[in-house]
Amino acid sequence: MSQVNLISAISTRKTFAIISHPDAGKTTLTEKLLLFGGAIHEAGSVKARKAERYATSDWMELERQRGISITSSALQFKYQGYVINILDTPGHQDFSEDTYRTLTAADSAVMLIDAAKGIEAQTKKLFYVCRQRGIPIFTFVNKFDREAKDPLDLMDEVEKILGIEAYAMNWPIGMGQDFKGIYDRQSGMVERFISGIGKKSSTPPVSGNLSDPNVQEGIGQELLKQLHDEIDLLDLAGNAFSQERVDRGEVTPVFFGSALNNFGVPNFLQSFLKLAPAPQPRSTNMGILAPETNSFSGFIFKIQANMNAQHRDRIAFVRICSGRYERGMNVIHTRSHRRLRLAQPQQLFAQERTILDEAYAGDIIGVHDSGLLRIGDVLTEKDGLQFETMPFFSPENFARISIANALKRKQFIKGIQELQEEGAIHVFRDLHVGVEAPIIGVVGQLQFEVLEYRLREEYGVKVEIQHLPYEIVRWVDKVERNIKLLTESSMSTVVLDKDENYAVLLLDEWKAKWLSDRYEIEFLNQPKEL
Ligand code: GDP
Repeated sequence: MSQVNLISAISTRKTFAIISHPDAGKTTLTEKLLLFGGAIHEAGSVKARKAERYATSDWMELERQRGISITSSALQFKYQGYVINILDTPGHQDFSEDTYRTLTAADSAVMLIDAAKGIEAQTKKLFYVCRQRGIPIFTFVNKFDREAKDPLDLMDEVEKILGIEAYAMNWPIGMGQDFKGIYDRQSGMVERFISGIGKKSSTPPVSGNLSDPNVQEGIGQELLKQLHDEIDLLDLAGNAFSQERVDRGEVTPVFFGSALNNFGVPNFLQSFLKLAPAPQPRSTNMGILAPETNSFSGFIFKIQANMNAQHRDRIAFVRICSGRYERGMNVIHTRSHRRLRLAQPQQLFAQERTILDEAYAGDIIGVHDSGLLRIGDVLTEKDGLQFETMPFFSPENFARISIANALKRKQFIKGIQELQEEGAIHVFRDLHVGVEAPIIGVVGQLQFEVLEYRLREEYGVKVEIQHLPYEIVRWVDKVERNIKLLTESSMSTVVLDKDENYAVLLLDEWKAKWLSDRYEIEFLNQPKEL
């Protein structure tokens, strides 16, 4: 393939994740975006998929039968000459380290906020991961068809709570029962909101210039005056727009609308496609790697095990960072220096797995793995290439896991070891208890259920789970005095991590601070050598 074609294929790609708190409308927004791309034809398809996911308590069995479809990956569709990859970030009860790691595969993020609730806990956590990476963050304030917080207050909340400047791209006119539409600050056009119209289709809303008497009449005197006042305020006192600052993640462009009514979504999508970055160069141990480099490379950000009960296969999700993938190509697995043939990489969409013939920097492919691959591993044509290490995500839920039947000890240890390597769990060991009853740390509660299920199904081991009240883990230097003090404290449990580093489980931030101040012990957020 010529360099020109490679560049043009890569420059049309937009790979992003939607970050939000449960119920803000991520599924609804995703669905509307897919609708534009013609990837689905009917509103409700994604929703149905989500409902299926929770309608049954035995969802894991369901997931196994259906293959990978129910759990996350990436959805790809084409729209107006762009190839759009939406990374699915698991939320709700399946929130886990995967959710965080997925963000390392994104080139930008869309932060979705419920207009009545403002910034919520999960959004904040996910925002900080994006912030650390310095990727552009776009904001969509959803549900303006309902009673909402004052839009100026919402902008203020974004700035104060998250510490990012907000720039309103458009502005809502009224809200709830009186929601009249949105005003586009660039074009001066108003899109009129008419309840119910956009729900089922992607029909564009009625629009007109703000100076048009018909538009003004539709808005009404009172709201019109308010709109003028607010726009003046934004123009005078608001932040200035700067593409460079958006690119650096210092300013977030803010859009208002209602995903459910498909209102404001087209306006958002148009701007987003213009402003969001194509795949960007990445730092490596060999210098900056441009995506259009004529050699394939990518890293694994997620591993999904046992898609198929008969084959015990695992699928590793690879974010392509440079070059082009071609079906059957040979790559080097950097950690082992082994050659791998990417025979049947897959793209995943809804219920189907599609075998891919080609893919480009920015895309996500699923690669079959027989146990060799780990999170953070690099597949490349250039041996020795390494990307920046995966960020460390601290577990927030802890439980002691023990085996019901001592004869299964070997399988149990193997299972725990393998699941740890896969990146699903963090394993800690009590100073006085052996490997038979490790303490497991996870980001999301549901991981315990997944762990229990997988140990039973894949390793034939039944376990007991005893939840512990701790919420955070901190690492400490092996200073005898400190270990002794922490071991004696009723507020903490001293443990060893997988590399025999000392760590301490603590009830909450407040207690951690108290202990650290009281005994003058320095707590680290992650093991030192990371
Ligand atoms: P998720 O948990 O973030 O994926 O949220 P969903 O997309 O499932 O939406 C949560 C609830 O909010 C559902 O009942 C949606 O119908 C509703 N919802 C989503 N967008 C809007 C909106 O723009 N307006 C209103 N009124 N409801 C919405």
